[in-house]
Amino acid sequence: MPLTLGVIADDYTGASDLANTLTKEGVRTLQTIGVPAADLPLPDADAVVVALKSRSVPADAAVRMALEAWRWLSGRGASHILFKVCSTFDSTDAGNIGPVTDALRLATGAAIVPVTPAFPETGRTVFMGHLFVGTVPLHESPLKDHPLNPMTDSDLRRVLERQSAGRVGLVPLATVAAGVAAVRARLDALALDGRTSAIVDAVFDQDLETIGAAAAALPLSTGASGLGLGLARALVADGRVLRQSCGDMGLAAGIDGPAAVVAGSCSAATLEQIAVAEGTMPVRRLSAEGLVTHPEAEVEAALAWARARLAYGPVLIAASDTPQSVAALQERFGRSRAGLAIEHGTAAISQGLVAAGVRRLVIAGGETSGASVDRLRLPAFLVGPEIAPGVPLLRTEGQAGAPLLLALKSGNFGGPDFFARALRMMGVEPPGGA
Ligand code: ADP
Repeated sequence: MPLTLGVIADDYTGASDLANTLTKEGVRTLQTIGVPAADLPLPDADAVVVALKSRSVPADAAVRMALEAWRWLSGRGASHILFKVCSTFDSTDAGNIGPVTDALRLATGAAIVPVTPAFPETGRTVFMGHLFVGTVPLHESPLKDHPLNPMTDSDLRRVLERQSAGRVGLVPLATVAAGVAAVRARLDALALDGRTSAIVDAVFDQDLETIGAAAAALPLSTGASGLGLGLARALVADGRVLRQSCGDMGLAAGIDGPAAVVAGSCSAATLEQIAVAEGTMPVRRLSAEGLVTHPEAEVEAALAWARARLAYGPVLIAASDTPQSVAALQERFGRSRAGLAIEHGTAAISQGLVAAGVRRLVIAGGETSGASVDRLRLPAFLVGPEIAPGVPLLRTEGQAGAPLLLALKSGNFGGPDFFARALRMMGVEPPGGA
């Protein structure tokens, strides 16, 4: 079955967020880590989200990566390509959104590309081409002080035009409110006038459906998860995608090996989740200092501890600690050295757990998850039902060996019983029965 929607995402967490949105809309979605090898065996899906790490790399490198992803997606028959960017349009004037959109426009043969980072439900709205974050324009929001991509101009037409080879038009809210035909007519008129892309206003959630329906008829669009939601609804409504309930996917069927949790997030939510888990499963607290000064011994000791217990139920291994302890460690070894050493340590533990037979793995922490996924060389996931808002159940696809069930949770996501909940959705009951 050919693919319907191909997504090129400029970072990992944005890719997962979008994959989760598509799945909730009933679109069977695969997420790949980087561009898959040409011969990677993957199951059928209606959408594939290729997760790149291209947001903050030089524009020519981002273009090369996006074109490689496009070649793979179009080779699988994708009839629409969404270039997924951040909902705050993170990029500098030398940034990637314009150059990648231009390159994909030429590749796909699109006359004009609708562009909108709007997602009203999450406080991102666009009016007269200006992006608002909550109640303030982008350039007055905390994004003005972003360490990598400070956003000092809310007028996305200007931002995009500074990065693009072509001229940028506007589809104003009044046109969006007039419906799909009006948006299409406006895009056609802008294309005739020589515009190569157009910022599309969206203030209400229903605007996304109108924009999605207009965009789905074109080869290419650029936007955030909100546009993904609009596209998903349009593709389901016009029958190009058969809506599938993610509860029916049977993701966990046939995967029943040992289970474990690895935590590297030091967020308040994760610390509470670990404390709650202590009542229901064995918990091993790593020595953060040990992971920096003698990592191999610390990792091996934790793995030996886990191997002795895995047969009896899930175990939890955590580097996570309080803000005071984190600050003390960073003071001693430097922020970046401490963070990297601990990410390497937790990734080695994830790898060791899988080598010890673990088939169901929950990882807490955005960077912690990314490091473990890279270390385990996982090429792709099938995205399943939500465990907690923004955190779907995943099944690995395309890697050597038996598939794994994964939950990758960043920072503050999930309620206090998140770990038990995730494990239960993987078919594991913690011995304490929380
Ligand atoms: P979150 O999603 O909560 O931001 P991340 O995994 O992205 O979690 O980031 C947490 C960072 O903290 C990682 O770099 C991790 O290696 C580091 N870390 C984990 N435990 C400790 C600790 N005890 N001391 C210092 N840093 C730590």
